[in-house]
Amino acid sequence: MPDRPDEFPTEPPAQAEQRHRLVSDQDVEDADDVLFAHPPRVVRRWLCGCGVDYPCTDVRFALLVKSSAEAGE
Ligand SMILES: [Zn+2]
Repeated sequence: MPDRPDEFPTEPPAQAEQRHRLVSDQDVEDADDVLFAHPPRVVRRWLCGCGVDYPCTDVRFALLVKSSAEAGE
């Protein structure tokens, strides 16, 4: 009785798994580059007492007046 080929897998399961991976080594390398180039950043936003981003136009003007006054002294 001859051996039946389908009883002998052509490749071990480990190799098969590697061959059918969804991503290649290159993909992983690219992903590392992307993650390195795009680190998360914590952004602190300053809010003015009047509710808009600080400095608001009023504050800008007030600071301008102050700096001008100091420069004139
Ligand atoms: Zn304001």
